[in-house]
Amino acid sequence: MKPLPKQLDLIGIEKKWQKTWEEMGIYRFDWKDQKRPTFSVDTPPPYPSGEFHMGNVLNWTYFDMVARYKRMRGYNVYFPQGWDCHGLGIEVQVEKENNIRKREIPPDKFRKLCEQLVEKYIAIMKEGVVRLGCSVDWSTEYRTMNPDYWRRTQKSFIILYKKDFIYQGTHPVNWCPRCETAIADAEVDYEEREGNLYYIRFALKDSEERLLIATTRPEYIPACVAVAINPSDERFDKYIGKKIVVPVVNRTVDVIPDENVDPAFGTGVVMICTYGDKEDVKTVIRHELPVIMLLTENGKINENGGKYTGLTVTEAKKAIVKDLDDAGLLEKTQKIRQEIGVCERCKSSVEILERKQWFMKTRMLTDKVETAAKEVVWYPDYMRIRLIDWARSLDWDWVISRQRVFGTPIPIWYCKNCGEVVLAEEDWVPIDPKLENPRIAKCPKCGGHEFIPERDVFDTWMDSSISCAVHAGWPDREDWRRLFPADLHPSGIDIIRTWAYYLMVRHLALFDEKPYKSCLINGMVLGSDGRKMSKSLKNYVAAPEVLDKYGTDASRQWAAGGGTTGSDIPFRWPDVEYGKRFLTKLWNAAKFVSGQLGDYDVGEKYELQLLDRWLLSKAERLTQKVTDAYEKCQFNIALEEIRNFTWHVFCDDYFEAVKDRLYKPEFYGKEKKTAVQHTLYSVLCRIIQLLAPLSPHLTEEIYDAIYRETMGNKSLQLAPWPGINKQRIDEDAEKKGSLVMAVITEIRREKAEKRKPLNTQIGNVKIYAGNAEFARILAENKQDIVGTCKISRIEILPEKGEGRRIPENSETSFVSEY
Ligand SMILES: [Zn+2]
Ligand SMILES: [Zn+2]
Repeated sequence: MKPLPKQLDLIGIEKKWQKTWEEMGIYRFDWKDQKRPTFSVDTPPPYPSGEFHMGNVLNWTYFDMVARYKRMRGYNVYFPQGWDCHGLGIEVQVEKENNIRKREIPPDKFRKLCEQLVEKYIAIMKEGVVRLGCSVDWSTEYRTMNPDYWRRTQKSFIILYKKDFIYQGTHPVNWCPRCETAIADAEVDYEEREGNLYYIRFALKDSEERLLIATTRPEYIPACVAVAINPSDERFDKYIGKKIVVPVVNRTVDVIPDENVDPAFGTGVVMICTYGDKEDVKTVIRHELPVIMLLTENGKINENGGKYTGLTVTEAKKAIVKDLDDAGLLEKTQKIRQEIGVCERCKSSVEILERKQWFMKTRMLTDKVETAAKEVVWYPDYMRIRLIDWARSLDWDWVISRQRVFGTPIPIWYCKNCGEVVLAEEDWVPIDPKLENPRIAKCPKCGGHEFIPERDVFDTWMDSSISCAVHAGWPDREDWRRLFPADLHPSGIDIIRTWAYYLMVRHLALFDEKPYKSCLINGMVLGSDGRKMSKSLKNYVAAPEVLDKYGTDASRQWAAGGGTTGSDIPFRWPDVEYGKRFLTKLWNAAKFVSGQLGDYDVGEKYELQLLDRWLLSKAERLTQKVTDAYEKCQFNIALEEIRNFTWHVFCDDYFEAVKDRLYKPEFYGKEKKTAVQHTLYSVLCRIIQLLAPLSPHLTEEIYDAIYRETMGNKSLQLAPWPGINKQRIDEDAEKKGSLVMAVITEIRREKAEKRKPLNTQIGNVKIYAGNAEFARILAENKQDIVGTCKISRIEILPEKGEGRRIPENSETSFVSEY
């Protein structure tokens, strides 16, 4: 046994163990081990964002707790870590920092800048993950921007292509005009903004009659292809089938019936433009209307806009409104609040454009997604429906091509002569078609010799949504199915619609199997004001600030204990502070225990007394409760149980009640003292075992000093999880012990209220037990009461009587005379 240092240096202890664990290699997955069951974590490779924030602290703590718990339960735990590099956010940031646009410099140069920024960001995040004490197997580290990872993404694309899950098509897509790329539904955020509703007069052809149309997007008038009316709207149904003149451009379009027009919105007459919004897209498909593309890829009006060609959307809106007004066609303008789709990365408003894109057929998998989602275990259970609802809500297939530079290249060429698509073979990848020709002599269709590379790259989710298979070793390891599906997929509540969903469709399509067996959801971190933590709201706290001040173990207690799993968790400094106070309490308890074990040998004979049996029984029940809580990922319950037991039952009650026995072995007998030592030794051990997944550093320090030598595991993290010793559960001892403890506590409480030091001798105490059974129990354990409370003379009577009542046993009371 080693003495524990006098001063508690939490941060020093944490740094020491983080380094030592890594040197010991205790978090390496053992591929050769065929005995232990495996447990694989599908660690989400994060976008390197350049910071490690409290949200990261929350989600990494969650799945690190599970990994550590499973390791102690005897699993061969696989906990990989990668970085999802190709984010649009990186391109936007590189453009900002260097004051350039990606099209202005050569692509390879732009790529280099992106890679450098990513490396800088990864370093910051990696430091955070290490500091949080995550039990990651760093030998698995990977980056999706490396060609070796491209190989996996490209190979999976080729397989999907051959399985007919991929198609190229000209479909309307969400488009960010600032980022100049298509974006998926999941990358569109919605913001409420103030806008105008313009009431515009449309003239019926060859008639004096006018119809009033209300629109928020008059700039789309040049792309108007129809005017729609709900056929059940008696005010207007007579106009259906007539021709109407689109103002400004003087084109004639049909008035069509459409049941989806809401007669209560605006005037009840709607113009259909291609494409003002997603509703327009649906209407165009329903009625097979023509399409007039109005915007260029950088968000300007194209040649279809007539005199407005070359203007931005905002400029065109202004010009068209003015022209309408000048022509007397603008009836009125009304302010409204409206919800606008914006680009998740740059917050520009999203337009809808048609451009040739690559798609994955995801909607045809919706039923399978639902079935699989029902098979997956969700923590908490009610999160399942979020995935199902999202899958059911999707109108379009997944657009997987992006008009960006920093992304995995799409392994496709086109024959220059006939346009035939040439797909790379699986053994050509990784490959960049912009730098290499296809490895075939001639076009299989026309025999042409020249090929044009696909310049688009993959959506970054194409990289990360194969993580479950890639982590398991696909496609290189023959035994990859050993770790597939992943046992645990952790996800933030905000990315169920992306990460959990894309993983699901991707793996279902590739392998016809669900990618994960369980899904652990964490909520968002709120500021202390209860709103979502964000820099702009000034309620933001940076994770390094918290870790510097209170250390990792205390911060992890905030994450584990802040709320139920899946709920949003407010960041409160007092919660972290409380974590530190608890760790200090545990440290002092360990110092006390270690100080009492000088002459103790494990295996020595002992004679357990009532209070020893009481505590040992309670420790078994604690083990049961905490084990159940970890099994259900109820981390807050595990933490609360451990803290209450340690603080109150172990330290406040038991320590005080057995000190007399510890200090006077000549009076009580050696074996009764050894019983206390045995109890202290085993219960402290139990506490640190149960707390180890939650606060691994301090528990390891205590284990190292007191237990390592005798228990033999080189780290507490590798020590087996404590089984429940049923023989130790002793209801009778718990009942009797609680009575004795309640009496001791109340006598001591009275002493404290009288402002007397706790070692003050009490002359006389008369206890009215309230019944014969209680009297017998108290008499049997008289010595503990007398010794702990320093009583000179004690009398225990079976009857009910006067004096101070024991709150837990109201028939019992006592009178003391000092
Ligand atoms: Zn954007
Ligand atoms: Zn050809």
